[in-house]
Amino acid sequence: MERFSVTTPIYYVNDVPHVGHLYSTLIADVLARYWRKKLGNDQVWFSTGTDENSQKTVEAAKKSGKEIQAYTDELAAIWQRTFEQLGISFNDFIRTTEPRHKEAVEFFLLKMEQSGDIYKGHYEGWYCVGHEAFMKESDLVDGKCPEHNRTAEWLKEENYFFKLSKYEKDLLHWFEKNPDWIVPQSRYNEVTQFVKQGLEDISITRQSQKWGIPLPNDPSHVIYVWIDALINYLSTVGYPDERYRQWWPSVHVIGKDITKFHCIIWPAMLMSVGIEPPKQVVVNGFFTINGQKISKSLGNAIDPLELAKKYGNDALRYFLFREIPFGSDGDFSEEKLKERYTADLANGLGNLVSRVTNMVERYAEGIYKKQKVHIDDAVMAGVNTNLENYKFDAALALIWSMVTEANKLIDDKTPWTMAKENKQSELKPLLNELASRVLDITSVLEPFMPGTAEKIIAAFSQPVKKAEPLFPR
Ligand SMILES: [Zn+2]
Repeated sequence: MERFSVTTPIYYVNDVPHVGHLYSTLIADVLARYWRKKLGNDQVWFSTGTDENSQKTVEAAKKSGKEIQAYTDELAAIWQRTFEQLGISFNDFIRTTEPRHKEAVEFFLLKMEQSGDIYKGHYEGWYCVGHEAFMKESDLVDGKCPEHNRTAEWLKEENYFFKLSKYEKDLLHWFEKNPDWIVPQSRYNEVTQFVKQGLEDISITRQSQKWGIPLPNDPSHVIYVWIDALINYLSTVGYPDERYRQWWPSVHVIGKDITKFHCIIWPAMLMSVGIEPPKQVVVNGFFTINGQKISKSLGNAIDPLELAKKYGNDALRYFLFREIPFGSDGDFSEEKLKERYTADLANGLGNLVSRVTNMVERYAEGIYKKQKVHIDDAVMAGVNTNLENYKFDAALALIWSMVTEANKLIDDKTPWTMAKENKQSELKPLLNELASRVLDITSVLEPFMPGTAEKIIAAFSQPVKKAEPLFPR
């Protein structure tokens, strides 16, 4: 039986979610809903969660004046609740401070050690806590990380290293054998180019830090947060218990800033312990807000719950998928959201549903017969192909071509004239076709706009009554 499992990045708990964080999670949600429909609910696993063992957590807790575990619990709960309120259909919300994760990490690290891939050495270099990574001197501007605008710290310590360089050839071989492994293609090219230039071993522990998961054979070191975090993709599906195999390998949806971790370090770690790399890594672009980068200091980070309250979960989903072609960067503005809301949702789909339900009630006592619409079949297949290939904007454009077609059919045939002239033999088949078209649209729309699909299905349960506006103006 075919199965599908999908993950989102896990999110740092040093801040509350903003609309930018939501994007990868929504992509995973659309995929999970689509595959559940296709394969059955039990055949799909969708996990998200929080990355808590970071130095950023320590700093944020200190700043908030709270004890670190209490702070972490509070923030993780906010993330989980936000995703729930936004209707994200995750099967698991994993936190990296949970015992099940810690157990998986310890087991995994021991396996890496048994493969002879961990050794002790010294590391010194510039470290950016914002990145939770060492930086090259050439990446710094006036001693600061330009992306986080914070001064890099010079770290010099005894570390354990992972022999990443050992996997250079295996990785290149893997990329060559799996040309669709990273989407979009531009990211695939970036990653393969990077590996071709040669890989260095990486430090995987921190001696100076206390917060984190201790290294099993030398607890005076904690495991580097990224190494621990990547393993969440296995701990969520039950690793080290063998049952993890039913959901592995999974599809990882990530943002473009964390490609190297997911496409180079993670598969190499998996090769080290003899586990197959993820099924695919799906990399989304970023979006700006009114043309500006989303940042706390600019104060332009939008609370997704505020937007959802104003426009509805589904309108927000529709906008993000329609407006931003997957893989590219895009821009978010409430103005554009409003335009789409009025034109595509209220005047397009909303109007169609209201017209058809109204006419079925008035002219056919609320009764219609679902029939096969041949034009829809071809378009719906196109929607699904686009969705499976992460071309979400194209999928929605096709769905909206069906909406426009159906509205046009009403305008052209003017069913109200047929009713006035009492042409029942023409009117009934037309209403059957219109109702069928709306239901076809709904079936392919569901992964993108689950709440709306539910409302439409309810509105078309017979006898049909004129539906309440789906998208009130
Ligand atoms: Zn940084």
